[in-house]
Amino acid sequence: MAVSHHLGFPRIGAKRELKWALERYWKGEIDQATLESEGKFIRADNWQKQIDANHDYISVGDFSWYDHVLDMSVLLGVVPERFTTSTDKLDINTYFRMARGRAPVGSDVHACEMTKWFDTNYHYIVPEFNQDQDFQISSDKLFSEVREAQALGKQIKPILLGPLSYLWLGKAKQADFNKLKLLEKLQCAYVKILEKLQTMGISWVQIDEPILVLDLPLAWQKAFHETYQLFKKIPVKLLLTTYFGGLQNNTELACRLPTAGLHIDVVRAPEQLSAVLTYLPAEKILSVGIVDGRNIWRTDLRKALNTLKPLHEQLGQRLWISSSCSLLHCPVDLDLEIALDGEFKSWLAFAKQKLVEINLLVRALNEGELSMERELCESDLSVKSRQNSSRIHNHIVKNRSSEVTDSMIARQNPYSVRRGVQQSHLKLPLFPTTTIGSFPQTSTIREIRRDFKSGKLNNEGYRHNIRNEIANVIHKQLDLGIDVLVHGEAERNDMVEYFGELLEGFAFTNHGWVQSYGSRCVRPPIIFGDVSRSSAMTIEWISYAQSLTQKPVKGMLTGPITILCWSFVRDDQSRFETAKQIALALRDEVTDLVNAGTQIIQIDEPAFREGLPLRQSDWQEYLDQAVYSFRLASCCVPDHVQIHTHMCYSEFNDTIEAIADLDADVITIETSRSDRELLNAFEKFNYPNEIGPGVYDIHSPCIPTVDEIVNLINKAAQHIPIQQLWINPDCGLKTRDWKETELALKNMIVAAGVLREKYKVLEAVV
Ligand code: GLN
Ligand code: ZN
Repeated sequence: MAVSHHLGFPRIGAKRELKWALERYWKGEIDQATLESEGKFIRADNWQKQIDANHDYISVGDFSWYDHVLDMSVLLGVVPERFTTSTDKLDINTYFRMARGRAPVGSDVHACEMTKWFDTNYHYIVPEFNQDQDFQISSDKLFSEVREAQALGKQIKPILLGPLSYLWLGKAKQADFNKLKLLEKLQCAYVKILEKLQTMGISWVQIDEPILVLDLPLAWQKAFHETYQLFKKIPVKLLLTTYFGGLQNNTELACRLPTAGLHIDVVRAPEQLSAVLTYLPAEKILSVGIVDGRNIWRTDLRKALNTLKPLHEQLGQRLWISSSCSLLHCPVDLDLEIALDGEFKSWLAFAKQKLVEINLLVRALNEGELSMERELCESDLSVKSRQNSSRIHNHIVKNRSSEVTDSMIARQNPYSVRRGVQQSHLKLPLFPTTTIGSFPQTSTIREIRRDFKSGKLNNEGYRHNIRNEIANVIHKQLDLGIDVLVHGEAERNDMVEYFGELLEGFAFTNHGWVQSYGSRCVRPPIIFGDVSRSSAMTIEWISYAQSLTQKPVKGMLTGPITILCWSFVRDDQSRFETAKQIALALRDEVTDLVNAGTQIIQIDEPAFREGLPLRQSDWQEYLDQAVYSFRLASCCVPDHVQIHTHMCYSEFNDTIEAIADLDADVITIETSRSDRELLNAFEKFNYPNEIGPGVYDIHSPCIPTVDEIVNLINKAAQHIPIQQLWINPDCGLKTRDWKETELALKNMIVAAGVLREKYKVLEAVV
């Protein structure tokens, strides 16, 4: 008999109950007991869903108040000293202070760093290790949740982040030392945790080691051997899980580790199955992750069964069926989407529906397909309707994409020629000043959009109000003396959603929330069909803004890679094909902007780097495709039109050549928080075009001084010719208020003046 289970369920609750409870607790509106009971309710509900879907194992330990990596840190007692003053004990407030720097109880401190969980849009709290780090069981949360679940009378499978992945994801603080030096102590703590679970009557523990899909140094491969050899002595069965990719050169290692079971992701890496079967020891359980935990599409059950049947014949009860990875990355319940039409809904499955799919597959294997005929036919119908639907397939779009030629991804002339044309056209001063696009999103702006959406404000009223906002920011920028203006993006709630709503091929949900970090959730658009643009998306606003001033106003678009990375993407064609279609739609907008007289167009690609694949061997292909898509969107403009792009980070070492390859005339980037990293990249590589290293951190309420800005540009000028430098903040200003914004920009303009004065002579000489 095959066995059903999943690798983790979303913890936010179907209606984001966790978010609301957390935020009320943080504000002091509810007490800890009320918060705890809300958590209990979410866990009970999640477990009930697993019971209703007939799963053989109920997962425990996937619930978290903020983040499961932080949970692990607290379980192991990895709490940096700044959070442990004598009066504070390691309680939920310490936990929240680690995550957020503050909590209802305890003093404020700077929070732990947060970063992206592998290649997902989920962020985890980075563990901080010091050289003599101790690991000590310091929290009862996991064990008490195990007891809570055991009361249900079902088989329980606790989930732990494995020791090697935990160590890998953390950072050595104070001194830089080899984290593997901590492994022995860490192993001891894990042994204690596993032993404790065993004494509680647990027979299986899921131990996540997703780093097995990365390029691992030899020392880490060895560390895997050692660690799991040691765990062998504990009489609890370990299901070692890997996900987000294939095991590749770690296949033999993962198969031979002395664990009772191994889980692999055959959605992301179906090709690894045969290699895994070659190395899988005769008695080992194989858990096959065949229901996509990263996307919202309904599983093609018939196709999945064709993969699973021969495995079932070969492995029998050693075959477990599961989600490819934790369902954390999926929204909770499709049943809540009452506004979606039946056809579209029939193509989708959220976390709750995916539990059912896993069960259907297991039953079809165990009881025969005939017993499942109705469900299988339904699945077939959904597959067919997606294959043939005219809502998905647009032959004009497909033909256009197949006819893209190389000349479409190249500007008319190289930057060296364009530069002169643009200079005589735009007549910008040395160190031109600009901003990244958005200005403060005031409550008035949010109200205008809300009222328009709800119908309270008609089209005409909405347009009138947005125009007022545009006029307001144009005048403010003119007063400040900024050289290249923006319209302020008041009409945009979100830089991807705005375009998704105007493009064909996108759909939106009402409750399709996915945790991004802590209480923050995002609702990614669903790209379900061929993408095209039916009418202009930004021209009206940009033209209006431009009509108010002689100074150039930038056209503002979100780039194809960012739209792709921040959406649920269709799985019936390659991501590159979808990126090309988005790029062509944006190209139409770029063309219209040029025809409307726009002289500068910025195409934001903040997600350019986060799209990098997990394995370095896959980087080049991704970068080539990302560059291709950006160029396809932007290269249709004449020489005098200046293309800008923006990226919000500065880890450029890995991607700087590809970024140069975008051939944008100007790039604005973040630098203020990590100027050293950026300048390192520019020391090694002569960036050929113009660049605006963000001169102040927009994430902080601090107002940058003139001196700070001047110093930063002086530093940049040591590596980048001054004629190539722009002056701008490091990201959009929508989260700031006007008072801060105006003070900061005033200083930025004064700093530009100081710098122009200082370098004037130099420029004359050059
Ligand atoms: N143009 C966008 C803004 O200014 C860019 C946002 C981003 O980089 N994430 O808000
Ligand atoms: Zn940014």
